[in-house]
Order: sequence, then C-alpha cells, then structure tokens
Amino acid sequence: MHCFTYHDVEAVGMCEACCKGLCAQCASDLGHRLACKREHEKVVESTNTLVSRNIRISSINMRGSFIVPSFYAFMGAAFLLEGLLIRPLST
Ligand SMILES: [Zn+2]
Ligand SMILES: [Zn+2]
Repeated sequence: MHCFTYHDVEAVGMCEACCKGLCAQCASDLGHRLACKREHEKVVESTNTLVSRNIRISSINMRGSFIVPSFYAFMGAAFLLEGLLIRPLST
C-alpha cells in the first residue's frame, strides 16, 4: 500500500476515519491509531474516546439490575432493526 497523497511513498498505515494510506509524513499517531494529519485527527480521537466510554458505561450498567431490562429491550430493538435492514439486501 502506498500513501494516498504521495503515491511513490510506502504507507505506514491507514486512517481510521477514511481508510486512506498514510506515510509517516501524513499520518498523525494517536497512540495505537492513525489518522490523516490535520484532517481526521479529531474524528478518530473522538470515536476513540466514545467507544471506550461506551464500554465503561455498559459494564457499569450490567451491574445495575434496574438498567438490565432496558438494555435487553434496546438489544432486541437493534436486532429487529438489523433484520429489517438486512432482509431486503439478501433477497
Ligand atoms: Zn482520514
Ligand atoms: Zn503521505
């Protein structure tokens, strides 16, 4: 894979937001993730914190018994929605 911007440069990774190839010059290292420098840094950074925050909240929710029924209701609705969305494509 080559860099999206400099086609003759080998990419070191790809952007988490847009999946473009990034060389060391174009990549912004966000710890264990890469993003387009000055373009998707904020996007990748915010999704990163959002995901880790969601994991933390759901692990807390699982311990609170009063939130569990609503969690299952949400999951049921999500599966139902997924089924409705996928069916027209597979047939
Ligand atoms: Zn990007
Ligand atoms: Zn580059």
